[in-house]
Amino acid sequence: MHELKVQDLHVNVDGNKILKGLNISIKAGEVHALMGPNGSGKSTLSKSVMGHPDYEVLSGDITINGTSIMDWSPDERSRAGLFLAFQYPVAIPGVTLANFLRTALNARRKANNPEDKGIPIPEFRKLLKAKMDQLGMDHAFAGRYLNDGFSGGEKKRAEILQLATLEPEFAILDETDSGLDIDALRTVSEGVNALKSTELGVLVITHYQRILNYIQPDFVHIMFDGRVVESGGPDLALKLEEQGYDWVREKHAIK
Ligand code: ADP
Ligand code: MG
Repeated sequence: MHELKVQDLHVNVDGNKILKGLNISIKAGEVHALMGPNGSGKSTLSKSVMGHPDYEVLSGDITINGTSIMDWSPDERSRAGLFLAFQYPVAIPGVTLANFLRTALNARRKANNPEDKGIPIPEFRKLLKAKMDQLGMDHAFAGRYLNDGFSGGEKKRAEILQLATLEPEFAILDETDSGLDIDALRTVSEGVNALKSTELGVLVITHYQRILNYIQPDFVHIMFDGRVVESGGPDLALKLEEQGYDWVREKHAIK
């Protein structure tokens, strides 16, 4: 059983302690939702898991199937099957979405088989078109420079297109739902659900119950001040939607 595990993670950003003993583990095929107020450290967790160099891990461990990935570079982590859909995707003018995806896909293939010569272009085009159709994206999109001038919703769809093309084992979606209208939310969610059959493990970071109506979580976690303070089933997200965070603050004596 494949498992991504974050154990007692402490992380500094810019000299400030942001993660303060965070634990979470995600098995293949499971959907976990991570909720929590702004600034509680959700994006810090996602970037730390991917190995962002600005995020200084003080202690704790991140493992895939029991193997520590702490010393691995972000590209090694990606090749090992991790994927992060950014909260704020970066534009790369000059690099088309299609070229970016083909290069990333080929890097993954080569990691699995050093002899691999890369996906033949016609095969790649077919794959990309199929994935874009699945996500309701215009094919012309693939020829545009990555995220350059994309609307908020287009950026989020481009992130999910990357997810669908790379077929990772574990995906973190950092507020992929924000900025999406209801139709885009549905197609993006359908894209993620289609991948669940590949035994994808997902961490959905969100503020809203809405996306969880489409991507149904097996577990919901609430994060406060660098830690997971509550974990439960889907009902936990509904309770937050109805009651807000006050009861969590009271229960855990958080100011
Ligand atoms: P969330 O995603 O839960 O809203 P973040 O992980 O983005 O929270 O941020 C947690 C805290 O860490 C915030 O106080 C934020 O200002 C700080 N922080 C995050 N990233 C950086 C950074 N690159 N530089 C400085 N401070 C940061
Ligand atoms: Mg965030």
